[in-house]
Amino acid sequence: MQDLRAMTLEQTCEFAEAQGWPKFRGEQIWRWIHAHGARTFDEMTNLGAATKARLAEVATIGCLTVAEVQTSKDGTRKLRLLTRDGASIETVLIPSGHKTTQCISSQVGCAVDCQFCATAKLGLKRNLDAGEIVDQVYLARKLLAETEPDRQLTNLVYMGMGEPLHNYDNLVTSLRILTHDKGAGLSARRITVSTSGLVPKLEKLGGETVRPNLAVSLNAPNDAIRDEIMPINRKWNISKLLAALKAYPLEQRRRITFEYVLLAGVNDSLADAAQLAKLLRGIKCKVNIIPYNPHPEAPYARPSAAAVDAFQNECKKLGMSTYLRIPRGDDIDAACGQLANRANGSPLVPLRVRKGPPPAPNVE
Ligand code: SAH
Ligand code: SF4
Repeated sequence: MQDLRAMTLEQTCEFAEAQGWPKFRGEQIWRWIHAHGARTFDEMTNLGAATKARLAEVATIGCLTVAEVQTSKDGTRKLRLLTRDGASIETVLIPSGHKTTQCISSQVGCAVDCQFCATAKLGLKRNLDAGEIVDQVYLARKLLAETEPDRQLTNLVYMGMGEPLHNYDNLVTSLRILTHDKGAGLSARRITVSTSGLVPKLEKLGGETVRPNLAVSLNAPNDAIRDEIMPINRKWNISKLLAALKAYPLEQRRRITFEYVLLAGVNDSLADAAQLAKLLRGIKCKVNIIPYNPHPEAPYARPSAAAVDAFQNECKKLGMSTYLRIPRGDDIDAACGQLANRANGSPLVPLRVRKGPPPAPNVE
């Protein structure tokens, strides 16, 4: 059985031709799925009964199902979705003025093992396929149409569960599908992929025709701190990461976003701010400061509001363009780094006690 939702337009046309159908039939089917959000063959009203019967024999449309929708007091909504094999993933819809940003997941769990992140504690269960990535968008679009018809999805960020560049092929296929003007037609300028810094894959992404904006979880002003909190730094350190970013062909007037999770007593001193400013000098970028969102699986604390302010002011004073990310949806565990997906049997484990620093994760 082939999953039509996971295919690009070109692949669907090839699929149609392999059935002995004209190529345009492939395009009709593809448009149903990606432009109109069809979830069954029955909805494809311009296809004949024989075509639909044949489709049902050889193909499926992979569908996620909505298990739960939670609404935060700030209007943020978290959707818990089930894959066909029963895994739980999460996506978050964040309204802000006229804009609505959706944060989507790329994997069930994550292999990268950042020490402050709840998703990390799941380990990597599996990659999402391209159909599962794009269906998060279609389900959110459907929910918005049903509940807030005046609101449209304006921005998409790959900042949910998982490391998108660790699921490279499905990431790129999902980007091709979502940006195609015969499908959902999202603009690549409104899509941001956030990565912990898989350098070879960053370089590869720079060569793709559909290039999203980049957000990079830097989170430290030097290798010593980054090695501790993001073991991926032992594989690709800050200088390798910055070299890859400098070579990334940004779209005109675009800047790289650096995410900086502020952890009390770890990376939030004024000296850290000064080192960060020096590190990023000469890079077209902005820094999103994210005060740590607490969860039971990590031994960190959010700095006080005064410490957060002092850190940001120091950054500004040193010429950095910084934005403070106010936690959204933290009352429903929907804020950055809280997507632990407790429905996966996620660990409310006791903290792991390690002798020595965390080892580099096994990712490529
Ligand atoms: N794997 C990708 C995208 C998902 S994580 C990445 O790491 O970039 C999205 C963002 O959440 C990252 O910037 C990460 O640094 C941040 N984050 C993780 N845990 C957090 C926490 N507990 N509090 C605040 N931000 C967190
Ligand atoms: Fe994975 Fe991103 Fe969490 Fe790190 S911060 S463990 S890369 S999801």
